[in-house]
Amino acid sequence: MEAFLKGNKKSQPELLTTRQQIVVLLSRGRYRAKEVSQELSIREKEVYDHLDHIARTVARQKQRLLIEPSRCLSCGYVFNKRKRFAKPGRCPSCRSEHIREPMYYITKLKI
Ligand SMILES: [Zn+2]
Repeated sequence: MEAFLKGNKKSQPELLTTRQQIVVLLSRGRYRAKEVSQELSIREKEVYDHLDHIARTVARQKQRLLIEPSRCLSCGYVFNKRKRFAKPGRCPSCRSEHIREPMYYITKLKI
C-alpha cells in the first residue's frame, strides 16, 4: 500500500471535496444541476444539497451563488420568485412541463 502511494506521488493535484469542486466549477461558468452531477459523478439530488450549503459558505468569502431562473419553454414564464434550488415540475401559468432547468454560477461581490 505504501509503495503504491509512493510510486503514485508525482504531480498529484490537490484533492478537493465534492463541495469545493462544485465551487470551482460554478466559478468558471454556468451549469445545470444535471451537468454538475455528471461532471462529479454524483446524483442530481446531492447537487441540490451541496448548493444549499454552498450558498451560505461562499457568502462568507464575498461571493454569491446565483441562479439563472427556470423558464417555461411553452409560454416564457420565468420562475423568478423561486427560492429553492430544484427544478420546478410544471408551469403555473400554462401547466406545461416543458421547462428549462435553472443554471447556477458563483460570482465575486464587488466592494
Ligand atoms: Zn408556461
